[in-house]
Amino acid sequence: MAQQLLDKFQRNIEYMRISVTDNCNLRCVYCNTSTKQHLNHVDVLSYEEIARVVRIAAHMGVHSIRLTGGEPTVRPHIEKLIEMLRSIEGINDISMTTNAIRLTEMAQSLKKAGLNRVNISLDTFKAERYTQMCGFNRITDVLQGIEAAKQAGLNPLKINTVVLRGVNDDEVLDFARKSFTDGWNVRYIEEMPLVDNPNGHKMVSICEIRESIENNLGYLEPCYTSKGCGPAKYFRLSGSRGSIGFIGPVTDCFCEKCNRFRLTADGKLRPCLLYDDEVDLRQALRGGASDVELESLIQQTAIMKHEKHQLADNIAPHGRSMRQIGG
Ligand code: SAM
Repeated sequence: MAQQLLDKFQRNIEYMRISVTDNCNLRCVYCNTSTKQHLNHVDVLSYEEIARVVRIAAHMGVHSIRLTGGEPTVRPHIEKLIEMLRSIEGINDISMTTNAIRLTEMAQSLKKAGLNRVNISLDTFKAERYTQMCGFNRITDVLQGIEAAKQAGLNPLKINTVVLRGVNDDEVLDFARKSFTDGWNVRYIEEMPLVDNPNGHKMVSICEIRESIENNLGYLEPCYTSKGCGPAKYFRLSGSRGSIGFIGPVTDCFCEKCNRFRLTADGKLRPCLLYDDEVDLRQALRGGASDVELESLIQQTAIMKHEKHQLADNIAPHGRSMRQIGG
């Protein structure tokens, strides 16, 4: 029977987000704009090292894993890691956050390896705007990738949309309509002020987005939270198959319910996204640490979790970008 991993505030840590690479095939304006060097291959955790951390964390009560990055599908043979994680006792949910560019070719093999579901990032339906926001003209690949993920049964599929004022806020209703017409599960996410986000401060609050949807498309009825460990609050338009979720890290702080760690591609375990604290697992892994020693470092990371972020006081992390942490 697995233990419970509790922090100082009695929150149960049961979810680990793992960045498998800091490489990405896009350059999104709010995420990945720096020309900073990527990690050297030797500095990135191997699949064996990641699986060892997950095995120990699973013994401590972690049961849900999300693979992210950078872009997780650009790490070679990612299916191999999924297979390894799938075989770990106690892990019952493996998901991925991806830009979907490579899903047309990979969705079936990811599913076969044991991936349960995907969250796909898409901020616009307009080709030219996609190129402006993400750096490359890949929207056709993304839309095909979404279809491929559905076909492969990577469900429930969720679409993550970051809304920026004056950039894509005129498409809020188009995304909401997709929940009705195509059964999409759309989630609006507030832009966070992280490193490499020079175009920041264009955040549109979830309150404003919700108001706009209700004023134009009708009442949003609260609905069952679909499978996941995340902070979104879910609603639906009357008669809709899909859902509409709101994630408001800035204006609707959900730290109180935080249940997660983040493992960076270079093996640092972060207790909180919005603080710079990290515990170096890679050094321990490569220095011959025993499972008990690694367990103790994981426990220590849980204890380091802060009660809540301090964005309201303009205190934001300055060490790593989202690409480097793993969104
Ligand atoms: N490459 C993958 C993708 O595009 O989904 C996974 C990594 S990406 C860093 C994960 C998520 O973080 C994306 O949904 C992205 O929109 C979100 N994200 C990145 N920077 C952000 C920021 N400054 N504020 C809010 N969300 C952000």
